[in-house]
Amino acid sequence: KENGKCCLGIFGSVELICSVCSSHAASVCHSCFRRQEKLQRCGQCRFAQYCDKTCQRAAWEEHKQECAAVKSYGKVPNENVRLAARILWRLDKQGSVVSDTQLAALEELEDHIYDISEDDLKDFKVDIHNFLDYWPRSSKPHTVDSVSKMLGVINCNGFMVSDQRGLQAVGVGLFPNLCLVNHDCWPNCTVVLNNGNQSAVDTMYHSQKRIELRALGKISPGEEVTVSYVDYLNLSEDRRRLLKQQYFFDCTCEHCTNKTKDELKMAGAVVEGDKVPEETVKEITEYSRTMLEKMEKARIEANYNEVVKICRECVEKQENVLADTHIYQLRMWSTLSEVLSYLQFFEEASTYARKMVEGYLKLYHPNNAQLGMATMRAGVTHWQAGFIEIAHGMICKAYAILMITHGPTHPITKDLEAMRMQTEMELRMFKQNEYVYHTMREAALKNQPIRMMAEPATESIKNLFRRK
Ligand SMILES: [Zn+2]
Ligand SMILES: [Zn+2]
Ligand SMILES: [Zn+2]
Repeated sequence: KENGKCCLGIFGSVELICSVCSSHAASVCHSCFRRQEKLQRCGQCRFAQYCDKTCQRAAWEEHKQECAAVKSYGKVPNENVRLAARILWRLDKQGSVVSDTQLAALEELEDHIYDISEDDLKDFKVDIHNFLDYWPRSSKPHTVDSVSKMLGVINCNGFMVSDQRGLQAVGVGLFPNLCLVNHDCWPNCTVVLNNGNQSAVDTMYHSQKRIELRALGKISPGEEVTVSYVDYLNLSEDRRRLLKQQYFFDCTCEHCTNKTKDELKMAGAVVEGDKVPEETVKEITEYSRTMLEKMEKARIEANYNEVVKICRECVEKQENVLADTHIYQLRMWSTLSEVLSYLQFFEEASTYARKMVEGYLKLYHPNNAQLGMATMRAGVTHWQAGFIEIAHGMICKAYAILMITHGPTHPITKDLEAMRMQTEMELRMFKQNEYVYHTMREAALKNQPIRMMAEPATESIKNLFRRK
């Protein structure tokens, strides 16, 4: 806040210490977290992988001790254990005088060890055990208490870090200062990971990834700054359960207290002025729940034809029974459009993508990051299907949202800017001469100037905040 006036934009950014998830260790660069086809393995530990020498050099300071530890341990511990070790090495390097205020803030973070459920406690104890085996004898020894404190802090303050396109959670990280920002299901800020430009100079001086705390709208002086740890698309009851389970608190935000929009999220359709009977809505809601579980299973197995089959069957039953804001229907539309576009059935995919965005618009905050990402995806699908007017409109809308939630320097925003210019040019051409437009579009589709057909992710950006 400047001169008592409200400000809009970035509040600040903090340093991130992170480690790659074991499940994605083979597919992303351990330095910049970009998904790459060809990665170069670290010759010492044969575990770490990088895009090139620049990425490797940038990561060496963080990887040096890990490299030796992995080599002598002969195994690779999970991401939480590796992250704990990275943080402790950093703390030890700085000695007893911790000059870095961000790391000093670690002391203030909650570990909630006494709140861990019995099942999770077993895994937690295994992590402690593995840490003690992994931690080299040549490094400064730590007590079981301080190790469990560190793992506890990671457990309830760790963030999921997504890849460069924000599509998949590929790492776990800790942003010590940001953890002190409180949660609200309808927040006034959002956090976003920004690797920014990876120029040589940048890498040399700022090898650390940073995340930004960004305002979603005007914030009045004295108003508390909040972010959301859960997806708003969940019912208030489910959000509260997730928050209690993962972050150990009872949410008392306005939206939870008033159960705002819960009814919309479970509503039945109105057909020709008549409400669908409550019984029928309930029955199809239950049916959708089981179909969603089936669909998730097929999706994890990457059985995309099965996913389409399940979704189509379910969507048919939901039609004219559930409202267009019913979250089970929205989930089906979202998955169906994503998988259909992956299978290159663009026209059908675009129909569901549009329904999804229209539903999201009635539920999400107008500057919600997930809404922005979904609108972008829908825009690309329409572009692929050749509906250039709608495509351009959606890309522009998505761009406006991401300028706020991700900022102008974020790689996704830059991609969107390029798409906006491309679709604008195509739209102009379409208005002048439809034939030329269609010829050009076919050529463009073949060359795929817009590379957005990532394999449908099992974990999406909504899990950015999920505790690992
Ligand atoms: Zn890299
Ligand atoms: Zn190594
Ligand atoms: Zn809440």
